[in-house]
Amino acid sequence: MIQPDGTCGRPTRHAPALFNARHAEAYWQQATRCVDLVRRKVGSVERPFSGARPEELRALIAAIDLDAPLGELRPALEELERVYLDDAVYFHHPRYVAHLNCPIVLPGILAETILSPINSSLDTFDQSAGGTYIEQSLIDWTASRIGLGQDADGVFTSGGTQSNLMALMIARDHHGASLDDHGGNKHEGLPADYRRLRILGSEVSHFSLQKSAAILGLGYQAVMPVACDAHYRLDPAVLKARLEECVAMDLIPIAVVATAGTTDFGSIDPLEEIAALCQQHGIWLHVDAAFGGGLLCSRRYRHRLAGIEQADSVTIDYHKTFFQPVSCSAFLVRRRSDLRHVTYHADYLNPLCQAEAGTPDQVNKSLQTTKRFDALKLWLTLRIMGADALGEMFERVIDLAGEAHAELARHPDFEVLLDPPMSTLVFRYRPAGLTDAALDDLNAHVRSALSRHGEAVIAATRVGGRRYLKFTLLNPDTRLDDLTAIVERIVHHGRDWCEAQTQSQVPTRAAVS
Ligand SMILES: *Cc1c(COP(=O)(O)O)cnc(C)c1O
Repeated sequence: MIQPDGTCGRPTRHAPALFNARHAEAYWQQATRCVDLVRRKVGSVERPFSGARPEELRALIAAIDLDAPLGELRPALEELERVYLDDAVYFHHPRYVAHLNCPIVLPGILAETILSPINSSLDTFDQSAGGTYIEQSLIDWTASRIGLGQDADGVFTSGGTQSNLMALMIARDHHGASLDDHGGNKHEGLPADYRRLRILGSEVSHFSLQKSAAILGLGYQAVMPVACDAHYRLDPAVLKARLEECVAMDLIPIAVVATAGTTDFGSIDPLEEIAALCQQHGIWLHVDAAFGGGLLCSRRYRHRLAGIEQADSVTIDYHKTFFQPVSCSAFLVRRRSDLRHVTYHADYLNPLCQAEAGTPDQVNKSLQTTKRFDALKLWLTLRIMGADALGEMFERVIDLAGEAHAELARHPDFEVLLDPPMSTLVFRYRPAGLTDAALDDLNAHVRSALSRHGEAVIAATRVGGRRYLKFTLLNPDTRLDDLTAIVERIVHHGRDWCEAQTQSQVPTRAAVS
């Protein structure tokens, strides 16, 4: 129960609950204790993961009675340390090299300590005031780095998945708006020809294309995978052929998605050639730069994104290669009027007259209504560190990937798939004399053994149906030595597995003979 003074239950025994002027001091003191806990934890973590199994963690959480509050911060933090922090996965650790999770920069975290308590909501100007202009200015800054031109616009999103959904929704509705006998998808739903709509992206593009197609009422069937070249880049010759095939089969390609940094390989599709084909066929070009977006800050590698400026829309994930805390992402378009497809004017929130009067309500271009002020994280980062510092951090992991590739390629028992175009490395442990099926089991075993022992957290993927291991390098503090050490442990667990196989086969053979 909340008392009039903002405390919970009996005021004498319970901690102040509401953040307000009376409790600003309590906020500071208690936040300090939380920060101190994190400081202690991060200062003492020796492994990226404890190795806890799901059932162990499920039991820890299940034992907690949510209807029996502890009433105070101290015991709640002790409990939290035990049920969460002791077994958290620590992305800052140099041997966490699994997914596209970056270690985060201090200004981004500090911004969280401001944006959470102030709690601005970025859907309307009247809930965010200057926050709206901060977000808009970062959108303009990003659009200008991409080179989208004066008419560009965009909005912060929860992540690349939401940005890709927006891109494909707008591409779909852009097509709907071009039909003479249709009043637009927003009012009338899908047009009669919706089953013929197609979205083309490389065979290694992100799965959010399929998810989006399903959400948009087009189904997975609408996504046409385009074959890649030997470097896992969309092959423009194949794209051209597929576009011609669409015409011949009376299908309607509504969007081509080029990936600037594929999730597994970091490969960057040939943006300029793809843009030329899109122009020629009058098709929406979306560039998914969720991973590669960080190159916008790199003086040395910015040229790898050449052609991105020709996109109709772009996805950027600041929470990947701009070293920001989750969530922090954006969706951008070349022509601001294209964002009208997501606009709805609600009388209580963002009436049309308000837009006509020039009030900048971000909800007019967003799928979300109530929306976090995630932009503040990037803002404080740019104001303190600047873009060059971010770009140099990304460059360091790109260079590290190159060095690690050279090292691994020399090792006779490893197969490395690709000289890394960005900062991931896909490989498998391949000692001689094993079948592909055995290698699959071996590599799966190695990955879980590393995680179970907490020595390293690495990722896995399938290529051509076979199991591979993956290092995703986003930590500028990871050294080649760390990777060499992980490789040694891979060999160690791999040999263990091979030995166990040989031993387990002995009784089988004995029984047969
Ligand atoms: C990570 C990723 C996404 C999805 O982004 P989220 O922020 O995880 O939603 C989309 N596309 C690519 C290429 C990605 O690597």
